[in-house]
Amino acid sequence: MQGVRRLPETDQTCDRCGPAVRAVYGARRDGELYLCRSCANRFWSALCAQGWTIHPVTSGGEES
Ligand SMILES: [Zn+2]
Repeated sequence: MQGVRRLPETDQTCDRCGPAVRAVYGARRDGELYLCRSCANRFWSALCAQGWTIHPVTSGGEES
């Protein structure tokens, strides 16, 4: 490994792709779902149609 920084604890992985893929978007409705960029693009409209709220995952601890 060449100077790879450790990921913060809040880092999430894509629920579709598995633990090897980092999630960049979170979706919330009854529960919480995490998606990588390609999965988010793919499922975004479907999730929105089902009432999911999609928000970017911040890895800097900037949750609000
Ligand atoms: Zn994915």
